[in-house]
Amino acid sequence: MTEIAHFIDGVRVAGTSGRSQPVYDPATGESTKTVALASSAEVGMAVAAAKAAWADWSRTPPLRRARILDRFKMILWDRADALAQAISAEHGKTHDDALGEVTRGLEVVEFAIGAPHLLKGEITEDVGTGVDSHAVRQSLGVVAGITPFNFPAMVPMWMFPVALACGNTFILKPSERDPSASLLIADWLAEAGLPAGVFNVVQGDKEAVDALLEHSDVKAISFVGSTPIAKYIHETGTRNGKRVQALGGAKNHMVILPDADLDMAANALMGAAYGSAGERCMAISVAVPVTDRVADALIERLVPKIEALKVGPAADRASDMGPVVTQAARDRILGLIDRGEEEGAKIVVDGRNFTPPQGYEGGYFVGPTLIDGVTPDMSVWREEIFGPVLSVVRRRDYAEAVDLIHAHDYANGVAVFTRDGDAARNFAHDIEVGMVGINVPIPVPMAFHSFGGWKQSLFGDHHMHGMEGVRFYTRMKAITTRWPSGVRTDPEFVMPTMG
Ligand code: NAD
Repeated sequence: MTEIAHFIDGVRVAGTSGRSQPVYDPATGESTKTVALASSAEVGMAVAAAKAAWADWSRTPPLRRARILDRFKMILWDRADALAQAISAEHGKTHDDALGEVTRGLEVVEFAIGAPHLLKGEITEDVGTGVDSHAVRQSLGVVAGITPFNFPAMVPMWMFPVALACGNTFILKPSERDPSASLLIADWLAEAGLPAGVFNVVQGDKEAVDALLEHSDVKAISFVGSTPIAKYIHETGTRNGKRVQALGGAKNHMVILPDADLDMAANALMGAAYGSAGERCMAISVAVPVTDRVADALIERLVPKIEALKVGPAADRASDMGPVVTQAARDRILGLIDRGEEEGAKIVVDGRNFTPPQGYEGGYFVGPTLIDGVTPDMSVWREEIFGPVLSVVRRRDYAEAVDLIHAHDYANGVAVFTRDGDAARNFAHDIEVGMVGINVPIPVPMAFHSFGGWKQSLFGDHHMHGMEGVRFYTRMKAITTRWPSGVRTDPEFVMPTMG
């Protein structure tokens, strides 16, 4: 058994808390590694290192900070394959999907390299007679990121590149289910020239999270994970005077209007519902065909495609979809399918009895599942399943489809498929959801825009990356200046001062 360590003050540090837990390969159900679980004392060490490093890092010119991130980006390009393999081994997603995650994270690094431009302030000459005013963005200090299992590289990269570019120092608390990616990232940042203490990793669970939430030297918390924990993080962090952005769970709908290109919609649904075994916060988990005719035609197209999906380990590069992350996740997903059936939904394609490929019998596989006749009173509609399960909720018209989406507590992403520009435009304007796709199933904003949902999918005021990220990780300072006027009687050869 190897133990996955922390990374504090520029080096890997073995855990000293005496607590650890196994890390599994979801494709086999076997464990050859454990992860250290930090005590609050270990979190304290990381915070102290980050606080000490902040003094110099915050005064390092943005251009120099950007150059370090630029070198890190080149390392990432070169070693994306190794990072993807580390992700697949603990998360279970396919290699190509893991590579996609690395690329989407790398794009935030590319955005953050623009720091010198992003941090330019504003200036007004003559706010009053002879008085000028300018405003600058300064870093906050030590900031922390607490991240979920489903994107062990991309979600941390939504956070730290922008935080570091803005002059903060960072502590990452990755998911304890797939912690290895965080250490590769830490090693490569150090190799790119990042000074010790600027980026730290503490592995752990609730104890480490609570220590970060309580620590007075942690000025801001970025969180991505499930809604109950997001709410807890936001409430506790803000109560302790921190800036908090906490992104939560999702239940994303795709409306298919009667004039949609149904082949396009069916293909889009396949990737959006079953890619990464449905373990994406932007996965489409509910199809909302408008009219029974559209529903029947859509299901007719979907069924053969679902039955043809190749489910297998990441080691088989032909797999379209891997296992889910843990045995507990598998049991929960199967239980929700059972509940859907008990509540009267029709299981059109049943993934419950999926037989894993030979050699992977112990893996946490769930076959792709399609459920028709789902209604808003059923748990399969209300709850986030976070697995390869697509529910079909039939609606009679556009207004019913919009009402259905508005009735849900989550409001992360949504999509509409149509050829009608007018309907699409109304939908984009009216729908109360943070990210909208028009004939685009997974409308994940690019790095230079910002990512975030509404309602119970985000607690706090700022979305992630893009200019929202820059705003979150900086505080404004406004400086108003007046200089004594008039020609001095004696020549002065030093810079004038206010004193
Ligand atoms: P999770 O909420 O279980 O864990 C997220 C983080 O919180 C982990 O680092 C974990 O160690 C920590 N944590 C867990 N329980 C805690 C507790 N009681 N107290 C303090 N900290 C705790 O989420 P997960 O299962 O790792 O990830 C899946 C969830 O994340 C899904 O709900 C998914 O929708 C959501 N997610 C949302 C987005 C988004 O952008 N909105 C993106 C990715 C994932």
